[in-house]
Amino acid sequence: MAHPRVYSIEAIILRRGNFGEADRILTLFTPTQGKIRAIAKGIRRTTSRKAGHLELFTRAQLLLASGRELEVVTQAEGREQFEHLRLDLWHATGAWYTAELVDRFLEDADPHPRLYALFIATLRRLDAGALAHEQTQSWLALRYFELRLLDELGYRPNLHTCVGCDTPLRPEDAGYSAELGGALCPACAPLAQRRLSLRGLKVLRLLQTSEWEALPRLRLDGTVREEIEALLRMALRFHLDRDLKSWPFLRRVTMESAPPE
Ligand SMILES: [Zn+2]
Repeated sequence: MAHPRVYSIEAIILRRGNFGEADRILTLFTPTQGKIRAIAKGIRRTTSRKAGHLELFTRAQLLLASGRELEVVTQAEGREQFEHLRLDLWHATGAWYTAELVDRFLEDADPHPRLYALFIATLRRLDAGALAHEQTQSWLALRYFELRLLDELGYRPNLHTCVGCDTPLRPEDAGYSAELGGALCPACAPLAQRRLSLRGLKVLRLLQTSEWEALPRLRLDGTVREEIEALLRMALRFHLDRDLKSWPFLRRVTMESAPPE
């Protein structure tokens, strides 16, 4: 290992599980080392001073000691808690979903600093959305995250030329194939797994090419939202080759909460 025996590192707590009587195993996401697994000893004791700094989704500065199999958390100082998103079921589920995506797509010790920055930015957007009781922008932030995640991992969907015949796509309804990795012209539509409306295609292109801050305020009806959500899920599922635990929960909380205006 290149790093020293004890080192300081910034991390977000992606996942945590109980271990033994009072310990926790943490999955950490760090900008420089990617995903790391660590143990926090004694953290479930009421006297633990580290506990509050190692909650799920917390961004913290940690002091880690290199262990044989797991790193050991020797100190933890929370820097950002995202306290609003925790209090809102829909937003908390959204945060859990993004964390699960990162956890499933990344191997251990495979650094992705841009994805790390995007992940933090997404948690901030969800936190602001929860504070404002606003789901429309938060929904968009999740789709933006999904598209950029695919991009970062080398699975950028092709939305400009037909993935069947390589001709530039014209402004018309088209299809989409996760296997071929992008949109299809009407002539190649028999290869499509899903239909892709022109409106859906335009929104996906915007999300793929605009920076978040430059995105116009989009007013999307339920049909387009459903289309985009289902299409991205299909693309993610194709690359993951399995379902995510958070998907059924996301679906349930979306149906239970008031529909976004
Ligand atoms: Zn074609």
